[in-house]
Amino acid sequence: MPGTLRVLPLGGLGEIGKNMTVVEYEDRIVVVDTGLRFPTAEMMGIDLVLPDFAYLRDRADDIEAIVITHGHEDHIGALPFVLRELGQDIPVLGRRLTMAMARSKLDEHKLRDVDLEDVEPGEKLELGPFDLELIHMTHSIPDSCGVALTTDLGTMLVTGDYKFDQTPVDGRPADIARLAELGKEGLLLLCGDSTNADRPGWAPSESGVGPHLEEVFSRCDGRIVVTSFASNIHRVQQVITAAHALGRKVALVGRSMRKNVNIGRSLGHIEIPEGTLIQAREIEDFPPHKLVIISTGSQGEPLSALRRMAHRDHPQVELKRGDTVVFSATPIPGNERAVNETVDRLYQIGCEVVTTRDAPIHASGHGYVEELKLMLNLVKPRYVMPFHGDYRRIHLHGALASATGVETDHIFHGVNGTPLEVDSRGARWGEKEHSGMVFVDGVDIGDVADVALRDRKMLSADGIFVVVATISEQDGSSVADPEVIFRGVPFRADAEALLDELRDTVEASLERAAKEEIREIDLLQEVLHDDLAQFVYERLRRRPMVLPVVVEV
Ligand SMILES: [Zn+2]
Ligand SMILES: [Zn+2]
Repeated sequence: MPGTLRVLPLGGLGEIGKNMTVVEYEDRIVVVDTGLRFPTAEMMGIDLVLPDFAYLRDRADDIEAIVITHGHEDHIGALPFVLRELGQDIPVLGRRLTMAMARSKLDEHKLRDVDLEDVEPGEKLELGPFDLELIHMTHSIPDSCGVALTTDLGTMLVTGDYKFDQTPVDGRPADIARLAELGKEGLLLLCGDSTNADRPGWAPSESGVGPHLEEVFSRCDGRIVVTSFASNIHRVQQVITAAHALGRKVALVGRSMRKNVNIGRSLGHIEIPEGTLIQAREIEDFPPHKLVIISTGSQGEPLSALRRMAHRDHPQVELKRGDTVVFSATPIPGNERAVNETVDRLYQIGCEVVTTRDAPIHASGHGYVEELKLMLNLVKPRYVMPFHGDYRRIHLHGALASATGVETDHIFHGVNGTPLEVDSRGARWGEKEHSGMVFVDGVDIGDVADVALRDRKMLSADGIFVVVATISEQDGSSVADPEVIFRGVPFRADAEALLDELRDTVEASLERAAKEEIREIDLLQEVLHDDLAQFVYERLRRRPMVLPVVVEV
C-alpha cells in the first residue's frame, strides 16, 4: 500500500521570493529550491531574508538531496545558509549553469566540501523512495528546469519558473513533448509558477528583445549604458550582438555582471565576437559613439554600479549629458522607489533614459495566462497547488486550473508552512509546521520575526553605538578622530582598548571606501555600518544598533 506524500512549502507562497519546498515520502526528503528574498525598505539594516527552515534542523539525515531548478536568487540564494546549518554532506543537484553558480556562491561562503552534481534533463535518478527527473524549461536564465518526482503514489511536478518561449535565444524551447507524456502517464500533482497569472495572453519571446535594443542603440550618438539582471545571460548576449552590429565595443561593469558573463562564457551560453569586449579601465580610451557599457543596478541596488554612476560616484564611468541609459528590465515589486530615484539622478546629470515604457526592450521570464493554461492542459494534473506568487496570483492560477477542467476541490491554495498530504484516498491539508522568515544582516543569521521588535530588542538588550566620522570633502580622507557615543552597551573592563580599536576600524573602513572611491554619503554610511557591526559582533558577541554618521567638511 502506497504511503503519504507530503509537500511542505517553507517559502514562495503569498510572496514572490524565498522559494523552498520540502517533499516527503516514507520519511525521506527531497528539498526543491533554497531561495531568498530581498528586504523591503522598512527592514532597516537587514541584508537578506531567508525562509525559516527550522523544520529541517532535526531532519538533516533524512534529506536525500537538495534540487535547484535554476540560478535565480529566489531559488538558490539561501543555499549557503542552509548547508552551513544542515551540513555540507547533503548532495545538491541541478543543471550545469545552476551548479556553476552554486559553486561560486558556496566558494564565497567558504563552503568547499559540498557535493554538487550536474544532472541533465531526461536523466533518471533514484533518491531513496523518489525517482527524479529534470525537464527543460525556458525562463530568463539558461538551464532552467522543472522537477518531476515520482513515488509509488504517482508523479508530482514542480515547474520551477517558466514561460513557453517558442523562439528562445539559444534555440531550445521547453520540452513540451515530455510534459505531454507526463500528462499521458497521469500526473498526480502540479506545483506551478503563478508569477504572471494576472497577465492575459502570451509572454513575448526573449528573441524579440534584441532587434528593439538595436533600434534604440541606433538612435544614440553618445555612450550607451544598458542595465539588466546579471543572470539574464541571453539578454546580455543580445546587448553584445546589437552593440557589435553597430560597431560599438562592450565593457562589463559590476562584479556580478563580470562573474555571470564569465560563467556563461565558459559553459558556452555566451559568445562574444573577437575584439568586442574591452576592460572597464579602457572605457575612457574610446569615443562615446563606439561604446556600450553593460551594468548591474537595474533594481536600484544601493552599491550597484549603475546607482554609483547615478550618484557620480563610480571609479570608471563618469556619466555626462548625451549619454543614454537603457533599462532592459522592470523593477521587481518593492524596488520601484530605488529605481525611480536612480532614474531621476540620471536625468539630473543630463542623461537620456530609455525604459520598457519607451520601447519593448524587456520580456518577462514568466509565462502569462495562456501559457499557464497550456501547462495545465499538457500535464493534466489530478491535483493542483499553485506556487510562486502572492495570494492574488495563486488564486488566479487556481481559477485557470478550474477553467481547464481540474476539479475545484482538487485545487489547493496554500500558505507557507502548511503541508499538502496526498495518499491513495485523496489530498488534504496537513497540520501546520513551523515556518517564517529569518533575517541576515551582513554578519550572521538572526531569528526575530519582526523588525520593529528587533530594533527595540537590540536597543534594550545590546544598546546603541553612534559613530561620527568627519571626512574631507576633497578626497574622502578622515580629518578628525572618529567620535564614538554609546548608550546601554554592556561593556567589559577593557572598554577603552575596545573603543580605540573601534576607532581604528572606522579609519580602516573609511580608507577602504576612499580607495574604492565610494564618496556618496549614503553608500559610505552603509559600508561603515557593515564593517562596524561585524567588528562589534566579533568582539562582544552582541548586536547593538550601529548608527554611522558621516560629516563632510
Ligand atoms: Zn527565476
Ligand atoms: Zn523565481
